[in-house]
Amino acid sequence: MMNRKLLVALLASPLMLHAIAAHAALRVFACEPEWGALTQELGGNLVEVSVATNALQDPHQIQAKPSLIARARNADLVVCTGAELEVGWLPVLLQQSGNAKVQSGQPGNFAAADYVRKLDVPSRLDRSQGDVHAAGNPHIQTDPRNITLVATALGARLQQVDPAHASDYAKAQADFVQRWQQAIARWTTQAAPLKGAAVVSQHKAFVYLYDWLGLKEVAVLEPKPGVEPTASHLQEVLSTLKGTPARMVLYSAYQDPRASEWLGKNAAIPAVKVPFTVGGTDGAKDLFGLFDDTLARILAAAGAKQ
Ligand SMILES: [Zn+2]
Repeated sequence: MMNRKLLVALLASPLMLHAIAAHAALRVFACEPEWGALTQELGGNLVEVSVATNALQDPHQIQAKPSLIARARNADLVVCTGAELEVGWLPVLLQQSGNAKVQSGQPGNFAAADYVRKLDVPSRLDRSQGDVHAAGNPHIQTDPRNITLVATALGARLQQVDPAHASDYAKAQADFVQRWQQAIARWTTQAAPLKGAAVVSQHKAFVYLYDWLGLKEVAVLEPKPGVEPTASHLQEVLSTLKGTPARMVLYSAYQDPRASEWLGKNAAIPAVKVPFTVGGTDGAKDLFGLFDDTLARILAAAGAKQ
């Protein structure tokens, strides 16, 4: 048996301290559940992921609470959407954290939207009338091809901030991307009957999903992104549908469904709740489940054979 004196000496030695430090997990603060899930896929037990929001919260409207600031203070890496989705809360949260590593422009600050082609980018910045998508549409996670691009960039970033485990991250990334590409092929085949279908959205949350599947957005219930539907705007959408019928209206799990339900009832089309992120529905337990369940719900509403 090791005597106590020796144990104390060993624990205090630089070698042992180094060994302990090398085994400490990389602390990751993820803004939204999809990026928490992706970081977990790529980091496994090398990362300790803390997710700031859940799927039933509106990611545009989060409070920079002291408990969130405390979590950002200890983070080695912050993984968020960017494209101004978190503009109302993340800058103040990072500033208050006093954590130099995770400030914008540092290796410890990762913005997923920087790595994909953004849609709905306005020709000029305009925040008038409460538009929350002034820098282009931030809801990039609704297209699985974007997840591939972000996985590649995030894998490289994990290697950069935790070089001691670079080969582990590279391996996990290659494994994930291979499984993900197979899943995309399966989803694309499943969703083929939806091509060209006209749909209505409650919030402009699905432009990337529609771009992937070839769905046509003919109306949006919010008069501007982030502005609650008004009775007069809903009437306008209803009359639009008389000339341009739609197959369904989609809303995200975090949203109040009443506007979609009203339109569904009055236009006699299904109102479809989709998970929008990991955890939004029981079926969306991880990133794979997110797309399995999203497609199952849309296909069921379209009356397509699965
Ligand atoms: Zn939005």
